[in-house]
Amino acid sequence: MTTTAQPITAVPANPLADAHAQLASAIELLGYDDGMFSLLAQPRREVTVAVPLRRDDGRIEVLVGHRVQHNLSRGPAKGGLRFSPDVSLDEVRALAMWMTWKCALLDVPYGGAKGGVRIDPALYSESELERVTRRYTSEISPLIGPERDIPAPDVGTDERTMAWLMDTYSLQHGHTVLGVTTGKPLSLGGSRGRATATSRGVVHVALAALRECGIDPAGATAVVQGFGKVGRHAARFLAEAGLRVLAVSDQYGAVGAEPGLDVAALEAHVDAHGTVVGFPGGEELDRDAVLERSADLLVPAAVEGTIHAGNADRVRARVVVEGANGPTTREADGILEARGVLVVPDILANAGGVIVSYFEWVQANQAYWWSTEDVEARLEERMLQAWHHVRDHSRRLGVPLRTAATALAVERVAQAHQQRGLYP
Ligand code: GLU
Repeated sequence: MTTTAQPITAVPANPLADAHAQLASAIELLGYDDGMFSLLAQPRREVTVAVPLRRDDGRIEVLVGHRVQHNLSRGPAKGGLRFSPDVSLDEVRALAMWMTWKCALLDVPYGGAKGGVRIDPALYSESELERVTRRYTSEISPLIGPERDIPAPDVGTDERTMAWLMDTYSLQHGHTVLGVTTGKPLSLGGSRGRATATSRGVVHVALAALRECGIDPAGATAVVQGFGKVGRHAARFLAEAGLRVLAVSDQYGAVGAEPGLDVAALEAHVDAHGTVVGFPGGEELDRDAVLERSADLLVPAAVEGTIHAGNADRVRARVVVEGANGPTTREADGILEARGVLVVPDILANAGGVIVSYFEWVQANQAYWWSTEDVEARLEERMLQAWHHVRDHSRRLGVPLRTAATALAVERVAQAHQQRGLYP
């Protein structure tokens, strides 16, 4: 088993520059002025905090954390908390902006936010991660709350992290506040269907996009980059929908099988070994070669900037459905468009997570819990409605899906600003 993870992007991504360029295109398309661009480019609030940690061996280490509230005009800020060594303030700003557009596009009543702590969680014990989460929560607690800003899992965090966050916030307030976070364990006010929601949404949209291109999903082929919270379940749901999953990768390597991988067996292997590498049911592949593998569908579900100017001309999929946030750089977007590849943008494709986060928050606020069937039916309905809306808008304007999706979202947020007026 290979144990050293290499950074997945060959070229450092600049997600904030890309996010600003996407916003600028939408502003131009909508005919708004520079003032509206400035209003929407600049986060409303951002905080950087020191997170002192006592390591298990007694040493003190001081980590850096951020929380950026990009927009609050349509409701409380909403967005994940990321633990990654690559976290930077600019990255968090870009991710927060994308959350604003995602929530607006799917019409969930939130603004956008993101948080991050610069830490490689693989190098810390569970109790150290608990201390980091609790201290970070305590530092940002004046900013968060069910009516202010509601964190959720993202890269490097999970339902345990959300349980610690909820507990820390609740202890500070003297009572249990379930609605301060989403993506919690089921036993602590989590929602049925939340853990798999992003992946389900990715697959709902992927099947619709394939059909749009005249490809029958039954018997179509797919490759998935990333085998974490999003990629793993997406690979399984694609296989269940009748696609052949030809290859998947994680940060350590990749595996493939021409007849299609047995995804359930692969998941069992990953549970036992922590990586797809060494899976006996497939051949070992170069990690980054999955992007270039010929298949009907590519789902990049790792991190930002994995499809860039250096490899976009080698992507051989007909349809790219973005499971990750920001996997396609601005330059790569242009290259894929020129080559006729249909790219379903992140703010639409991976919105299933925040949709079910919204359902979780509604359930927690009402203390009334829905069935799995209810959650999944409502999730599918919202995803397909948004897909049709974006596709129709893109056809009408003759622009790529990302431009159409961003313009629809930006218009909703801009209208909220205009209707609320500028104070004072
Ligand atoms: N981190 C997820 C995302 O990027 C979910 C955010 C949420 O549920 O608030 O969409």
